[in-house]
Amino acid sequence: MSSEVGLLVPTPPAIRKIERISPTLYEAAMKCTSRAAWLASGERKLLPPHPRALLGIGVHAVLERARSGVISGTTEDERRVGAEHVFDEKMRELFAATHPLLHAKFDGVDRLPFYNLFRARAAQMAADANVVPSARAREDTPRTGSSGSTVEAALVSRDGRVAGRADVLDAANATVIDYITGAAGDSGPLTESELRQLRLYAYLASENGIAITRGVIERTDRTRAEVPISPQQAAEEGRRALSVLDGYNQHVGRPFESGASPSADACRFCPCIPFCTAFWKSAEAQWNGQCGTHVEGVVESVEGERLISINLNVTRGTGSRGAAVVTRLSREWLTFSGAALPQPQQTVRIIDAAYVEESEAPAVFRADRIGTAVWTVPSQTP
Ligand code: SF4
Repeated sequence: MSSEVGLLVPTPPAIRKIERISPTLYEAAMKCTSRAAWLASGERKLLPPHPRALLGIGVHAVLERARSGVISGTTEDERRVGAEHVFDEKMRELFAATHPLLHAKFDGVDRLPFYNLFRARAAQMAADANVVPSARAREDTPRTGSSGSTVEAALVSRDGRVAGRADVLDAANATVIDYITGAAGDSGPLTESELRQLRLYAYLASENGIAITRGVIERTDRTRAEVPISPQQAAEEGRRALSVLDGYNQHVGRPFESGASPSADACRFCPCIPFCTAFWKSAEAQWNGQCGTHVEGVVESVEGERLISINLNVTRGTGSRGAAVVTRLSREWLTFSGAALPQPQQTVRIIDAAYVEESEAPAVFRADRIGTAVWTVPSQTP
């Protein structure tokens, strides 16, 4: 029997200096310095991405090419077909390079949940972009669409300490547009986080001589949320981002955990949960609703053939403590890359399971193909 383990909790990185802050990094650092440290310099290939995050990258690739006039076609239908090809090509490339757990869970890239939905939405948004071939711009300059909008514009503040790439900067209409395509879901009103990002893009635009008075969030479900942005609000956001950057850099050289600010809100959707000691020391069962179900425990027994159940004693995390069973784990998800099944006495972390029953012992959790991962904790991990 193999002694390999499938997912071994990695050692967190130390916190390294950041020279400039982006809107995404700003958001992460507002929540937790350690989260931002991972975003800035973590070894991303160690963690399986959420399928929606991969699909989001595919959508952005389509939109970027559509808005810059690279997707050809004189009719909406022709542009839609062209956009679908771009999406398929980008997704094949991403899937080929992704974490092996995703390959164990999904036979092919088009088996990712909501693949066709994201593909259709990206194609429709691209068809709507309607940038004519004559408006194509050179690749080495900010690209300008037929409406005078600058696409995926890389902007840097005058002092070089803030930088970002707005999805669309429409100078003619003084508008910045950001497409939301990630794992956080669709719909809903503008969040505080989205508002901060739009204002920071407006700040970056003003630093480059472009006046922005309106921010728009466009979601994958095609809903839009708009907000006016004053020059004062944009400038204030720029100042805050610089202050956050300075605060972050005070942690440089310290261990990952020194910057951690665990809470149900900060840790929601954080990719660091599998290896973040601060999370495991602080997480409470009450965080479950906001933060999801993540439990650590000692394996007592493992049962099943194709579908595996792990009986364990939960000691930490967002599930109730004590006897529990995690059901419906596919053997392939646990044994990919020739790994052995978890063994009794090993400590494991189950990330993104779903509660089925918690009122009676043992608590029952069900694995979910999209998000669940089982990590083995090395014995010296605190
Ligand atoms: S899990 Fe929570 S405490 Fe840890 S890095 Fe992420 S946000 Fe910070």
